[in-house]
Amino acid sequence: MIDLAKANQNLWREITDECGDIRNCFNCGTCVAGCPAAEAEPPLLIRNLVRMVLLGLEDKLIEDGTPWICVTCSACEEMCPMDVRPFDICLAIRRWQSKEDETYIPTAVTEIFKRGHTQPVERVQELRKSVGLEEVPPTIVKFPQLLEKFQDMLEETEMVKDNDYMFRR
Ligand code: SF4
Ligand code: SF4
Repeated sequence: MIDLAKANQNLWREITDECGDIRNCFNCGTCVAGCPAAEAEPPLLIRNLVRMVLLGLEDKLIEDGTPWICVTCSACEEMCPMDVRPFDICLAIRRWQSKEDETYIPTAVTEIFKRGHTQPVERVQELRKSVGLEEVPPTIVKFPQLLEKFQDMLEETEMVKDNDYMFRR
């Protein structure tokens, strides 16, 4: 059960000072309906994130890794009827999480290291085939030697060096 007595009433001001007016959100769900990452596992439900910010549920929000699977397509931004700019809010949540906990490494980052995508491509192979596309997309998953180079590069970063137990090939 959500305990609103522990909520941070100022959270929306802290997170969204450079975004649209989040208080205009009337929870219509249009942003989720057009979001490709809403099909991910776990799904990115941007409307829920907006609600968490508005309600000040910082304990819940700090642990939520779904903002990191946003593919930055801006569809929600264009579709929101209230000009709330949910994409901006998604990025603002990422910044806030990183500032609140400098050691925070979202699962999406370890997934990118492992496979070059935040989601396993196998999940959509049937769908790609059904619309006449190659089952494997022409990205890093199709070229294992590039994935190795990508991992070599990431292994030079402080983040991976300091947390090598989280980054397994
Ligand atoms: S910008 Fe991110 S949150 Fe918005 S529709 Fe695209 S993937 Fe979803
Ligand atoms: S589309 Fe805009 S108003 Fe509707 S739920 Fe999403 S953020 Fe709120």
